Amino acid sequence: MSHSADIAIIGAGLVGLTAALACAHKNSTVLLMDAQDPADHLDRSFDGRASAIAASSWRMFEHLGVAKRLEGHVQPITDILISDGEVGGYISPLTLHFDSEEAGGGPMGYMVENRLLRKALIEAARQSENITFVAPVTVSAFEETTNKVSVEFDGERSFASVLIAADGRNSWCRKQAGITVSNTPYKQKAIVTTVAHEKPHDGVAHELFLPNGPFAILPLTEHRSSIVWTDSPAAVDAAMALPEPAFAAELARRFGDLYGEVGPCAPRWAYPLSLQMAEQYVKGRIALIGDAAHAIHPIAGQGLNMGLRDAAALADVVEEARANGLDLMLQLSDLEIWRNFDNRILAASTDVFNRLFSNNIAPIKHARRLGLGLMDKIKPAQSFFIREAAGLHGELPSLLR
Ligand SMILES: Cc1cc2nc3c(=O)[nH]c(=O)nc-3n(C[C@H](O)[C@H](O)[C@H](O)COP(=O)(O)OP(=O)(O)OC[C@H]3O[C@@H](n4cnc5c(N)ncnc54)[C@H](O)[C@@H]3O)c2cc1C
Repeated sequence: MSHSADIAIIGAGLVGLTAALACAHKNSTVLLMDAQDPADHLDRSFDGRASAIAASSWRMFEHLGVAKRLEGHVQPITDILISDGEVGGYISPLTLHFDSEEAGGGPMGYMVENRLLRKALIEAARQSENITFVAPVTVSAFEETTNKVSVEFDGERSFASVLIAADGRNSWCRKQAGITVSNTPYKQKAIVTTVAHEKPHDGVAHELFLPNGPFAILPLTEHRSSIVWTDSPAAVDAAMALPEPAFAAELARRFGDLYGEVGPCAPRWAYPLSLQMAEQYVKGRIALIGDAAHAIHPIAGQGLNMGLRDAAALADVVEEARANGLDLMLQLSDLEIWRNFDNRILAASTDVFNRLFSNNIAPIKHARRLGLGLMDKIKPAQSFFIREAAGLHGELPSLLR
């Protein structure tokens, strides 16, 4: 069946779904398309990641009615503890401790399993009168005309004012639009899994900086934590090949006596890591958001949050175009100016952060240990970083305020 909508979105990942809900919330009609069956996305074997959702992004989920669908599945992050050291060995006594209560605020963020967040977003999208969600479909082509963009799938043509590419890191849409990307692979991969542990984590997120990359222990509900173990590709490949008992023993060694007995309670996944930035976000009636526009190192847990901000900013741009009586395409350049700059700053910071912390060069190692210790003593600097982690920096789109 052919459709007509204000906005067409290709890709119903976490960012595409959020963008659809945000635009629908501002009374725009949305055609949302995905190549995969949503039921596959909800399967436990599809995506084992959990995401740290910044406090500002969470506010948008509250506005959109998504937060209430996640009740009982969300773990607030109340403290972040950053240290530098060696596995099972020396941990620098100069650690950095962020406590949101000390800084006068609520939680710095919320941990949610990606598949549960996706489920909540899909349910909300299915219930929205303004969203037509079609999946699985194969989009075979799109074409810009004078005042519309047409999208072809399943032998039909649908029409919208603009087409949003939210189809991830390897975006088909981006390639079709002829938008180039810069890609710098990191000499690192990340293993993600979930562990169950004996003792409670009390909402503390730990990040231990090791020479090959950070080892993050992120709190989930029910005495569980999500692990993001970044290491050299060779070490990750070797760890992924370990039989279950040996992998469990290696994890236990890394936890030491932090939470009593620990053991994996979910499959493990490995992700290659790279810094990838699209040269431009907007071209004619096409705009990129989420990983289609930018993919960064997970060291600070900000990749998805950047995409959620894109989604919220898009909704503001759509609203403004309507208020100004403009063809939406003419207002899209605001998205480019607003989000491209913001994302480049954050991408560059995470890149520097990773290079600074993922090495064993003696002077840098000593300087960063000293830096962590010093920062721990300077309250204004701490407040600044807490606000960054909570996503409260820069000009916030209305749904994040
Ligand atoms: C190890 C790791 C840990 C991370 N942890 C965090 C964290 O704690 N916090 C955080 O903020 N970020 C985190 N990130 C980043 C975050 O996971 C990503 O930025 C986010 O998932 C990107 O979402 P997306 O919707 O843009 O893309 P995707 O999740 O890739 O979704 C793309 C969607 O497009 C669909 N699609 C693809 N091609 C087509 C096509 N041709 N036609 C139609 N549909 C198509 C796909 O089926 C999919 O549904 C992490 C990343 C990694 C690797």
